Amino acid sequence: VLARIPFRREHRSARAPCVQDRDRALDNADFAEVVRRTARRLEGLGVDRGDTVAVLLPNRAEIVTVMFAAWCRGAALTPINPALTDDEVRYQLRDSCSAVVVGGERAWALASSVGASWVDAETLHRDSHEPPVGPGAEVLPLADASDVALVIYTSGTTGRPKGVLLDHSNLDAMSTSLIEHFELTAADRSLLVLPLFHVNGLVVSVLSPLRAGGDVVVAPRFSPDTFWDVVEVNRPTYFSAVPTVYSVLDTHTDRAVDTSSLRFAICGAAPAPAELVSRFERRFDVPVVEGYGLSEGSVASTINPVAGPRKPGTVGVALPGQEVLVVSDDGRPQRPGERGEVVVRGANVMRGYLGRPEETAAVLRAGWLHTGDVGILDEDGYLRIVDRMKDMIIRGGENIYPKEVEDCLHRHPGVVEAAVVGKPDEKYGEVPVAFVVVRPGSAVTAEELIGHCAASLARYKTPAEMHVRDQLPKNSVGKLVKGPLRAAVSATTP
Ligand code: ATP
Repeated sequence: VLARIPFRREHRSARAPCVQDRDRALDNADFAEVVRRTARRLEGLGVDRGDTVAVLLPNRAEIVTVMFAAWCRGAALTPINPALTDDEVRYQLRDSCSAVVVGGERAWALASSVGASWVDAETLHRDSHEPPVGPGAEVLPLADASDVALVIYTSGTTGRPKGVLLDHSNLDAMSTSLIEHFELTAADRSLLVLPLFHVNGLVVSVLSPLRAGGDVVVAPRFSPDTFWDVVEVNRPTYFSAVPTVYSVLDTHTDRAVDTSSLRFAICGAAPAPAELVSRFERRFDVPVVEGYGLSEGSVASTINPVAGPRKPGTVGVALPGQEVLVVSDDGRPQRPGERGEVVVRGANVMRGYLGRPEETAAVLRAGWLHTGDVGILDEDGYLRIVDRMKDMIIRGGENIYPKEVEDCLHRHPGVVEAAVVGKPDEKYGEVPVAFVVVRPGSAVTAEELIGHCAASLARYKTPAEMHVRDQLPKNSVGKLVKGPLRAAVSATTP
């Protein structure tokens, strides 16, 4: 697996750097040296094959070098979201049995509280007093294909976060199919927008371009005020982002921007309104390819083609090397046009959840990953995500997919964001309730929006209440989270 790490000589391009962030640009030789030095540090702390190294940092190039250094030792990386509370970080450190934590002072305090060693991230990329390890003294990769490479914690909308175990063969399969799908080469440069504690950032924006011999630019924290400057200065060939990023850029950009370096942009991780995707493509002259996947499948399972036909409102076709089916409740494949659960099979599918055999058995059945998402395949194999099974609202025995109501709201020109959740109801069990953010300057009212839904949706699907908010709750990846909205509507139930 590590035979294909990007710091091999033949991957060195004349165009330095290969990884850069706001503080420092590492060319291929620097990168290899930092990785070797870090691997030596980890070795000195006793990190060995099968161990786990945690990293607690905001998006910085160090996360990438520590990841490769851990792999050189045959260890796994578990990246931690810095927005977590101390208790939540300690939970992840203990659950993943992390032997070492890389980070700043906070990482030091938390590492000592769980008995782990600490590596000061500040010292990793600075000029070190340690003698250079040098290319002559290669740190040989210890990992093989079945060793765990990443332990990724799901955001945990149900119960405690679970550690998704991805091994090198999973990441190899995933990055190979992304390289093939997007025809990534050494000429590509990704702009990392998404957080590195998630597979989207790590695999789509870091591992795949590096393995193709290209570069990664680690962007500063996303802001619509600086985003286009970063694009114009660094000239990336693509970026991957969540729908919220596209929506914020669409709403807040008020100047002409130079997007000529971008071959495409990837939108995924959450439902994207088809209108937003088409508007963004037209306005910024960049093909936006929508994709779908989950951490358990190493990130992506379906993506729209860049050159071939992109179908708006769909998340594209199965990536090379994966099978994607829609099955009925009893596990039979549905015909095109029929709804069912999306299931995925391929070398990208995780080994399981760390220390949770029952939860693993519930989602990995007969070689298929059960995603918990409801989808429809069309005649050409394009997948449409209807909704998450657990988000479905049942009103008096009728199923309502919130996404259908949200899509209807998004078609109103005054609506920027929409979320529909079920509110407990004595008569019907549940009724749909909508939360919306309206476009700045729009005078649309809640009553008008209810009327807008009533005009195109069956009566039972029309929201019983419409709440206009300044913003909707998001997790740190920028994905809308419905839990707080459900809690808000349940609290107001008599
Ligand atoms: P948790 O499992 O803890 O709730 P999560 O579901 O957000 O967290 P991820 O692996 O980050 O975990 O996200 C995967 C889910 O995101 C998918 O199962 C699907 O519900 C949703 N998703 C991903 N891409 C899309 C998309 N393009 N359109 C609609 N939904 C998507």
